[in-house]
Amino acid sequence: MKIHNFSAGPSILPQEVLKKASEAVIEYNNIGMSLLEISHRSKHFVDVMENARALALELLGLEGKGYKALFLQGGASMQFVMVALNLLEKRAGYLNTGTWSENAIQEAKIYDDIHEVASSKDANYNYIPKGYSIPKDYDYFHCTSNNTIFGTQIKQFPDSPIPMVCDMSSDIFSRQLDFSKFDLIYAGAQKNMGPAGTTLVVVKEDILGKVSRKIPSIMDYKVQIEKSSMFNTPPVFAVYTSMLTLEWLKNLGGIKAIEKVNEMKSRVIYSEIDLNPLFKGYAVKEDRSMMNATFTLANDDLKETFDTMLKEAGISGLSGHRSVGGYRASMYNALSLDSVKALVEVMSELETKA
Ligand code: PLP
Repeated sequence: MKIHNFSAGPSILPQEVLKKASEAVIEYNNIGMSLLEISHRSKHFVDVMENARALALELLGLEGKGYKALFLQGGASMQFVMVALNLLEKRAGYLNTGTWSENAIQEAKIYDDIHEVASSKDANYNYIPKGYSIPKDYDYFHCTSNNTIFGTQIKQFPDSPIPMVCDMSSDIFSRQLDFSKFDLIYAGAQKNMGPAGTTLVVVKEDILGKVSRKIPSIMDYKVQIEKSSMFNTPPVFAVYTSMLTLEWLKNLGGIKAIEKVNEMKSRVIYSEIDLNPLFKGYAVKEDRSMMNATFTLANDDLKETFDTMLKEAGISGLSGHRSVGGYRASMYNALSLDSVKALVEVMSELETKA
C-alpha cells in the first residue's frame, strides 16, 4: 500500500530522487564504483558539491550577491553554536518562538550575552510575537522562520538594522521570500532537501571575520568557504541526494512553482480543521505554518477510532510532538496534494462516524 508520509523529519523525498540516489549507491554514473567509494577529492564528487552549492544559491535568488553556500555536518544544532562562535562579540538578539529557538539561545549563551527580543512562551508558542524592536548595537538578530513543533511560521520578517540570521530548517525552499534580507540562513537537509547528515548554510561573506575570539577551524565559516565546504571529508551521500532534490525543484519551476502547491495543500488541511467540529487548530490562524499543521481532537474519546482509520488509509507520521500533543501534519515539498486530500478524507469520514 502507498504510505502517505506526514513525518516531521527525516521526511518524505521525491520518488525520482530516491531512485537516482539508490542507483548511485550501487554504481555512480557508469564509472564502475559506488558514489560511496569514490574520493571526495575526485572530479566526480567535486562537481557534485559545486553543483549543489550553485543550485542552492540559484534557487534562493542569491547568485552574485556576495553569498556563499556551504554543506556542513552537525545538523542545524551545530549551527546554533557556529553562529555564535563566528558572529557573537558582545550581545545578540534572539526571537524566541519555540523549542528550536530556545535551543539556539541556550547554545549562544555559552559564548556571550543573549537578549530575547520577544517570546511567545507565554502561550506555549502558539503564535509569532510582533511589534518588537531590534537594537542597532547588537551583533546580530536570530529568528526561526518555521517552528516545526508548534506549527507557526513567520510571515513578515522584520527590517533588521543588524545582520539577520535565520534557522530555516523546516521551510527552506518552500515559499518565496526576499532571501537577500538575511545575512545567514541555515537548514538541516532532512526536511525539504535530503537525508539527515548535511546542513545547508548560506552566508553573506562580508559579515564574517569581525569577532576577536579564536574559532576552531572546522567551525569557522571563513575556513569552510576557503576549503569549498570540504575542510574535512564531506557527507557525500547526503550532499549528492540534496543536489538531486534541488535539481528536482529547479525542474519543477523552482520555489515559485512549489509554493503554489504548498499553498494549496495548506488551504485544504486548514479548511478541514476549521470546518470540522471534531478538530481544533493549535496555532493562531494568522501565524499558521504552511509546512506543519498542528491540531487536536475536540474529544479525546475519538482518538482510538481516528488512529485506526489513519492506519487503514496508509497515513503515517501524524502524531504531534509531546510538547503540543494531538496531531501534526508535516507537508514538506515532496508531499503531494493527493496525500493531503487522503488525510482530509479520513478527517471528514470521522465526522460522519462520530
Ligand atoms: N531547527 C528546526 C527549526 C528544526 O525543526 C530542527 C529539527 O527538527 C532543528 C533545528 C534541529 O536540527 P538538527 O537535528 O539537524 O540538528
